[in-house]
Amino acid sequence: MTEPQRLAPLAPGARVGIIGGGQLGRMLAMAAARLGLSCHVYTDRADDPATEVAAAATIAGYGDKEALGRFVADVDVVTYEFENIPAATAEYLNAARPVRPSPGVLALTQDRLVEKNFISGLGIEVAPYAQVDDPGALARAVAQVGRPSILKTRRFGYDGKGQSLIREGSDIAVAFRSLGGQPAILEGFVPFVCEVSVVAARGLDGDFVAWDIGRNTHEHHILATTTVPADIGPDLTARAFDKARKIADALDYVGVLAVEMFLVEGPGGRRLLVNEIAPRVHNSGHWTLDGSVTSQFEQHLRAICGFPLGSARAHGPVEMRNLIGGDILRWRELLAQPGACLHLYGKSEARPGRKMGHVTFLRSVKD
Ligand code: AMP
Repeated sequence: MTEPQRLAPLAPGARVGIIGGGQLGRMLAMAAARLGLSCHVYTDRADDPATEVAAAATIAGYGDKEALGRFVADVDVVTYEFENIPAATAEYLNAARPVRPSPGVLALTQDRLVEKNFISGLGIEVAPYAQVDDPGALARAVAQVGRPSILKTRRFGYDGKGQSLIREGSDIAVAFRSLGGQPAILEGFVPFVCEVSVVAARGLDGDFVAWDIGRNTHEHHILATTTVPADIGPDLTARAFDKARKIADALDYVGVLAVEMFLVEGPGGRRLLVNEIAPRVHNSGHWTLDGSVTSQFEQHLRAICGFPLGSARAHGPVEMRNLIGGDILRWRELLAQPGACLHLYGKSEARPGRKMGHVTFLRSVKD
């Protein structure tokens, strides 16, 4: 594909390849149908929820070149709904069709150390951190960063997995072993007032649109609720948008991204530290399906296809609540509530800790 061909906008009727078959892929495929796009999902699990709603599905390993070759020949653009795709796979696909966000963005966000270096290199504050490759480096890092601090694997962490809290008196050798001795970073524990996220989109032409900021709560390291608006005041809101835009521009980003931030109170007032970047549609943006003019899923498709971006205006205050494991048993009661918009992911087994669905409460709807 020549460069002008790669940058040419697509049109309804095009086919989008989605790597990963989870609920994010499912909601992308549903939004794609509304825009007259079709989707081909590539996943290594036959019962993944996105396969049910996509026009085509390939079930094969993420390193299976033959299957990847057939998949990419069938699509016009490729995106992904989870980050743990081998970098070589993204590069291989990108040689045939544009992968958006780019394989470079994927590689950067797959490694917490590279990501932190990049963010702080932009002059954006992050928690104090240090590289940890062995137990000796951990001792030096603890001396530098202090306690409490959190040891995190550099790669393949999500929902608090691959993390170990180091308190006063914690045995650091045990902490290092608990992560399987993998390359890690040590991060200072941030005594945050709250966690917020900016979910935003950047188009093929550099246009940037952000939704209202969400305030997030977690239970057992998994996102529990997102409340919009976050009510952090106009000044911090503007600063949060600036940080997200700076990151998106520096990455020449195309698609939806989420930037998770900690709001901290200090002697100089309130400020925001960036925790991490998710190069994809994000759980804290699920409220946009029911609560805003353009959902994050539609916006992501618009961006990667080179369509104009849509308005991110919210219809009113909302709260999104994840339905984890057995929470899904409340489906009947939730369906009966005014202003509750229920989304179920079609997963057959409600294992503890598994995201089974979510519900968005539209606070302005009373009957
Ligand atoms: P992460 O995998 O980095 O997104 O971390 C998952 C969750 O752990 C975050 O949403 C926070 O609630 C908490 N967390 C992570 N890093 C820190 C930190 N440096 N200080 C305080 N809490 C943290």
